[in-house]
Amino acid sequence: MSRPAATRAGQSHTGRPRVVIVGAGAAGTLVALHLARAATRRSTRLDVVLLDPADRWGRGVSFGTFDDQHLLNVPASGMSALPEDPGHFVSWHRRQHPLEAAADPGAFAPRREFGRYLDETLQAALLAAADHVSVRHVRARACGIRRLGDRVAITTSQGHEVHAEAAVIATGLPAAGHAWAPESLQDSAFFVPDPWAPGALDIVRRARTGPADVLMVGTGLTMVDVALSLSDARNRPDRILHGVSRHGRLPRSHADEIRLPAIPDISDWGDSLASLRAHVREHLSTVARTAGDWRPAVDGLRFQVAALWQRLSEEERLDFLSKDAGAWNVLRHRMPPSSARQVRTLRCAGRLTLRSASVAYAEPLSAGGLRIGLGDGTRLDAGWVINCTGPQGDIRRVGDPLLDDLLRPRMGVALATVATAGMGLRTVDGRLIDAHGGMKAPLWTLGALRRGELWESTAVPEIRAQARALALSVLDSVAPLPRRLADGRLVSGHHPVARPRDPLGLPLSTTADAAAAYNSGLERVMRLQSGGEDLLRQATLLDPDFALAHAAIAMLGHESGADTDVPSALDAAHRALTKKGDERERSLVDVVALRVRDARHQGAQALVDHIARHPRDVLAVSAAVPTIAFSGVTDVQREAWELVESLAPAYVDHWWYISLLSFVRQDQGRYDEAALLAESALSCEPSSGHAVHALTHVLYETGQHEHGRVWLDHWVAQSGRSASHRAHFSWHAALHELALNDTEAVRRRYYSQLAPPTVTGVRALVDSSSLLWRWQVTVAGWDAAVRAALPVSSLVFPGESATPPVADVLKAVEPALIDRPQTPFVALHGAVALAAAGDAERLRALARHCRAHSDPTLASAVAAACDGLQAALETRWTAAVRILDDVLPQLPLVGGSAAQRELVEETLLLCLVNARDVGAAQGLLEERLARRPSPLDRRRLRTISTLHEEPSELVS
Ligand SMILES: Cc1cc2nc3c(=O)[nH]c(=O)nc-3n(C[C@H](O)[C@H](O)[C@H](O)COP(=O)(O)OP(=O)(O)OC[C@H]3O[C@@H](n4cnc5c(N)ncnc54)[C@H](O)[C@@H]3O)c2cc1C
Repeated sequence: MSRPAATRAGQSHTGRPRVVIVGAGAAGTLVALHLARAATRRSTRLDVVLLDPADRWGRGVSFGTFDDQHLLNVPASGMSALPEDPGHFVSWHRRQHPLEAAADPGAFAPRREFGRYLDETLQAALLAAADHVSVRHVRARACGIRRLGDRVAITTSQGHEVHAEAAVIATGLPAAGHAWAPESLQDSAFFVPDPWAPGALDIVRRARTGPADVLMVGTGLTMVDVALSLSDARNRPDRILHGVSRHGRLPRSHADEIRLPAIPDISDWGDSLASLRAHVREHLSTVARTAGDWRPAVDGLRFQVAALWQRLSEEERLDFLSKDAGAWNVLRHRMPPSSARQVRTLRCAGRLTLRSASVAYAEPLSAGGLRIGLGDGTRLDAGWVINCTGPQGDIRRVGDPLLDDLLRPRMGVALATVATAGMGLRTVDGRLIDAHGGMKAPLWTLGALRRGELWESTAVPEIRAQARALALSVLDSVAPLPRRLADGRLVSGHHPVARPRDPLGLPLSTTADAAAAYNSGLERVMRLQSGGEDLLRQATLLDPDFALAHAAIAMLGHESGADTDVPSALDAAHRALTKKGDERERSLVDVVALRVRDARHQGAQALVDHIARHPRDVLAVSAAVPTIAFSGVTDVQREAWELVESLAPAYVDHWWYISLLSFVRQDQGRYDEAALLAESALSCEPSSGHAVHALTHVLYETGQHEHGRVWLDHWVAQSGRSASHRAHFSWHAALHELALNDTEAVRRRYYSQLAPPTVTGVRALVDSSSLLWRWQVTVAGWDAAVRAALPVSSLVFPGESATPPVADVLKAVEPALIDRPQTPFVALHGAVALAAAGDAERLRALARHCRAHSDPTLASAVAAACDGLQAALETRWTAAVRILDDVLPQLPLVGGSAAQRELVEETLLLCLVNARDVGAAQGLLEERLARRPSPLDRRRLRTISTLHEEPSELVS
């Protein structure tokens, strides 16, 4: 697809804005891809020029290798080009290798394949964008750049000038530095200064004369690649590869199984280097202790590196670079396990040596090759010396004409300035800052050229996010979207913004201060954090006529149990609307009023209609498809899924939407996709409660109980400290502990995190009491039933077991919630709580209430569940089995998650054993174990299998 084309000076002949991307490696290709996608979405016409002497786009230095031993050092699941579709590369890779296990999300694919993937992904995007966007690859090197008013002119090595409305400098890592090499070595023909230069290692591989050994200076990932490339030296079987570096350390290896990152909460880590060092050390040792591996701690830190870097002064950054960066790189930039195994084999066979030393001198040998004197006093005769020290850090010392030109003052002002230690350029979100601190020239950069201001900015996961944000920023500059002003006029260009906007860009009819408070509150709601309503209240104090904020307060009170005065907030919203408010704001106030009056019918319909008109209204969508505890517009799973899926065009890859989509995917049993989506969302927003909730379900449903418990505990203690519904996350952790058979851990967790008064109200009903019932039926009641193996009348009922008393939980729940529930989900949990308390009378009354209710699910499924539980309470086991068995298929209508609804199946299992239908219980457990591992289920299966084999013992 790469089409060479000469580009002459002058404007784009199509009359469309032109963007030049200098460098067509991974970063440049990703910018072109996101420009094409975003321009098509906005119906913006655009010409893109990719300027790079390379013959193909998408390769660059790292992915241009032809050696299949050179693997990606990031698992396939982390390499998608599309943040909203984290499985995109994995799927592409699978299509290339349909029969190979290597195509799994944790595999480390050959880097060459990733280059091809980027190439094809851009080609596909261009096909889809053909009406709006053209991309041309011009094979030339940029060597200068100047500003022409609002535009720029880029000079190529062929002497042409390309004019453009914007330019993106995507030239990647600076060339390898070799200032460490003595002059005699630098001048030698047996010195390979840049192993990544095309064909640089060919001569080393083919050489048949001179000393066989090779010296590699630098022992990082570059050396690993070089060593693997040279290890198959059939023509020099006596060759020994020697690696030397200051510390002589190899990069660490990835684990065979990729674990979820443990993202720390850094809010109280302080902002001095000393304090950050101490916290990082503590984080590493805590995670290593609890998870049994330090890698999740390092991977989690990666999400916070940019924020931590911002806290350091310039001196502290330099101090970090000289004292800590080496150790960080060893832990952070890891090699694939298969490469680590190959390296180990080479070392064990004595074909690769490593040591801590520097090169002191180099002398030519008469037979070719070099005699190298090392700093430790030893000498070595090597056929070749290969520079594996990696790229030059300081761009001022690279001698790159383009970078030098950017930094050269013209009429006193350079177009760019260097960031910390010269590791790239200073920017505001990628837009270059000139020597006067302004951003007059339409110039952007990304990737390695932002290392000085971000520290971690070289790998695809970071570059892809930067490319997407940068594409939007460039489009906003070269082809701004038309905006409607308060007076109704439509303007385009850099017109001052008339009204503040919410985090999704929707206008707000209020003051800037009130909008800021509202947005902070809304963001808390989006992250599922507590305290959103306080910030919304603050917004209404700052602007009492802010109708939307009043409506939001009412909505949170009504939809998610926030402590608010719903009628007063609604009145205030209506009063405010008489003063100001646009169509969306009016509509939302009406929707909240209707939801309060009749949540399930008119209210639900109004909410759906509102979302159809305003799909980016996150408050409305949050109410329509909540992922925790409350019922939205529908209890029918498929309808909720369809609603979320239909919103994709409005949100594309926004972390909040990706989190919601991840929840839908786990609900659909598409666990791999759900996990990838959740991780992608968490990489943008580590506090995203929806994403954590989705991942939690994935870990439970796929039987990763030990890992799930540790990860969840870490999240709750760190980024989840201010999560609303914390009890629900504790409930999830307790479920893992139950599945692991660790009832003492469940007890500790219950008393510390789930017992009243820590948890009260609807959460106590849904999480605390349901846990107690589950504990009773799966452990205590089960053991009693099996141990006794006696006639029915002698069986010990679960209510008599040693679980904490349910009565305390019931006291912490408003009686009306249990006795007169309005939704099937709450009613089912009320029934379970009453069963756990052994309160047959109240359970019977609840069954009557449900049966008389106008909601068909309450009247049928939940009423029947009450009957089933009633029968179990009265030890009418056979009847209980029959009723609960009928209820099971109807349960999805009740809402909630599969893990929550499992409670009824657990009760059925206990009833089956007590009814001595051991075969059916066995079948149910076997079916579950085929789906996911569970020590608890395995133990239960073992115990009843014995009974099954010896039925006479059961009926003694
Ligand atoms: C050996 C190696 C392996 C790596 N492996 C991985 C990995 O597995 N996973 C991962 O996420 N990251 C990896 N990285 C990090 C890697 O830097 C990035 O992932 C990514 O390749 C960077 O892409 P880039 O486009 O910024 O830079 P590059 O790949 O260096 O591409 C820059 C492009 O700009 C062109 N160029 C330079 N100067 C000019 C100019 N003046 N005019 C025109 N064109 C110019 C070059 O020809 C080149 O094509 C690796 C890096 C290296 C060096």
